[in-house]
Parts: sequence; C-alpha cells; structure tokens
Amino acid sequence: MSQKAKIAALIVAAGGGSRMGGGVPKQFRDLGGRPMLFWSHDAFLSHPAIDMVLTVVAEDRLDQARAILPGGWVEPGGASRRESVARGLRHLALAGVEQVLIHDAARPFLSAEVIDRVLAGMASADGAMPALPVADTLARDRDAVLGEIVPRDGVVRVQTPQGFHLQAVVAAHAAWPADAEATDDAQMVRRLGGRVALVQGDAMLEKITYPDDLTGADMRLTWETRTAMGYDVHRLEDDEELWLGGVLIPHHQGLSGHSDADVALHALTDALLGTIAAGDIGTHFPPSDPQWKGAESGQFLQHAAKLIADKGGRIDFVDLTIICEAPKIGPHRAAMVARIAELLGIDQGRVSLKATTTERLGFTGRGEGIATQAVATVRLPGGSAA
Ligand code: MG
Repeated sequence: MSQKAKIAALIVAAGGGSRMGGGVPKQFRDLGGRPMLFWSHDAFLSHPAIDMVLTVVAEDRLDQARAILPGGWVEPGGASRRESVARGLRHLALAGVEQVLIHDAARPFLSAEVIDRVLAGMASADGAMPALPVADTLARDRDAVLGEIVPRDGVVRVQTPQGFHLQAVVAAHAAWPADAEATDDAQMVRRLGGRVALVQGDAMLEKITYPDDLTGADMRLTWETRTAMGYDVHRLEDDEELWLGGVLIPHHQGLSGHSDADVALHALTDALLGTIAAGDIGTHFPPSDPQWKGAESGQFLQHAAKLIADKGGRIDFVDLTIICEAPKIGPHRAAMVARIAELLGIDQGRVSLKATTTERLGFTGRGEGIATQAVATVRLPGGSAA
C-alpha cells in the first residue's frame, strides 16, 4: 500500500470581525448553540481524508478557542490574515504535512463534498479552490450613481477551503512582499506562477460577514429531532436511603442497588443516552466497577447530558413516570423537577414528572420495588449521526 499524503486543515479564526459591529468576533458568536468556529472544525475532523486540524486565533482568545474545540490544536495567529496563515503553515511544515486546506472560520457550513472536490482538484495542480458563478449583474458604484456594467463572463466568486501542496503555499508566502496585503492564499500561489484549479463551490458556504448573515445562518442549520425512552426498576429494602429524582425522601425503606439506586434518574439517563444511540447506563458506568458503589446518580445524568451537548445537541423535553404504591410522590414533585432541571441545565418547564400506582398489582403494587419510565426528546444539528 502506498503511503498516503499527510493532509491538514488550517482554520483561520484570528480576525476581529469589525463589520459585525463590535463585541465578540463573529467566529465566536453563537450559531446553533455552538460558536461559529466549531462547525467547520467539526466538518474537517469528521472527514476521513483530513489527518489533523490546526486553528489559529488571536492571542487573547487562545483559552476560549481551546475550550470550544476540546482536544483541538490551537495556536496564536498574527496581526493580519496573511501573517496568521504563515504562522499556521510553519507549524504544519514541522508536523510533516504535505497538503493543506486553508479555511475561513466565517464559512461554517462546510460539507464533506466540498472537501472532496478540493482534494480531487489538487491532484493535477498546485492548488484548488471552490468557486461559484456570479448570478447578479455587476456594476461600478460612481459616488452612489450607477456606473459601467462589469461583464460577468468568466467571473467567479471564490470561496474557501483553498487546498495547496504545502511547499507551494509556503514558497508563495515567503516570496510575497511584506508591505502588500493579499486577499487570499490562491492569489499568492498564482503570483509565483502556480496553477490553482477551480472546483464547484457551494452556496451554503457563503461567508458570514454582517449581523443579518448570522440570523440567516442559524436558520440554515437543520435540526434532527430524536426521541428515546428509558426504563428501570430497583428493589425497596430496609436500612436504605430513598433517593428519587435526585432528592432524598424520608421513608421507612429505600432503594437498593450498586449506586444510590435512584431509579428515576437511571431511567432518564437511559432515555437521554438513547437519543444519541450511546448504549445504556451500564455501558458507561458498569456495576462491576467499584468506583460507582454508592455513587450519586446525578453524575450519570450529567454525563448523558454532556454527551448530547458534545454533539451540539439540545434537550427539548423530558418526561418521567414513577410507578410505586408508596411513598406519595406529589409532595416531592417540585423538588425533583427543580433538581432534574438543574442537573440537565434546562428550564423547569422542560421537565415533566408524574406518578402512578399499579392498584396494588404486581411488584410495585406489593411495595417490593419502584419502577420508572422516562422519555427524552432532543434536537441534534443536521448531519451529526451518532
Ligand atoms: Mg438502575
């Protein structure tokens, strides 16, 4: 098998985004529950051909970027876009990278197909970039009066990621005059006589520049709704504390189990894990593991919520039905709802908790144990199959 070229993505996110109107730079603004920067990083990370992803950000945003991209490679950029790219390229050269895709963080909707096309375009050129035809009429602005029409023939709108053989783009940066700015890296490679192939761009890849773009971008995010259920039973025994829905309830018996045996939180944890097809509570916290002996079940629930958040997901609603003859759940319902909402980091209005008996029938009716059914509904950003 021949050795495959080492391919990296370099995301440029060091800009101040002045056209967004002050405050937080656009690449750190919320888009579908995650900072904009997250999305293109995620697209590269999940592409099988990309071996590593380096993000360059302003020095004072290093910690923030590392928190947004856990485990991601983040380095400080420079004063200009060109300098930021140059710094990134130096890191990638040291890492033995042979091809690089340079991308603007302000283009969050990067598809695997665009990455594929750019990589394919580089096979027979020094570089490749996505481009789209111009649909609108182009004209010159002569002091707010219509000037000449600019012919559209042969004119394209260029996008990123722009892919290059590393040596070609490093040489282009080295040769570029220090006092001149470049609009993009392709222009620099071309100046040295390099050939940059044009491949089909993507309308979804539009650059987000103005605040209105951000609203439009949020609307462009597609969400997938997932619903899953959980069910659990624990035995009631003497000399046990009764933890239910994250609350300690005074009762003459308690639930027994390896952890604190909070049957309500266990059922809900399984429902949440189900929404991302992440197995069940035993997969993540095996009863054979002594560290979970007597453990507070709230941490199991929080773990499931974090796995959902890691996928950019949102918990829309959870609903629990506690099945027992005693104790009475009503007096503790508000405290349980408050605790579950707190553990999940959602509004109490998104937590429903109900109780029923089984008319003294079955094990719950005989008071031998307590059962709980739970249902969870979450939204995941489009394309994030578990
Ligand atoms: Mg259990």
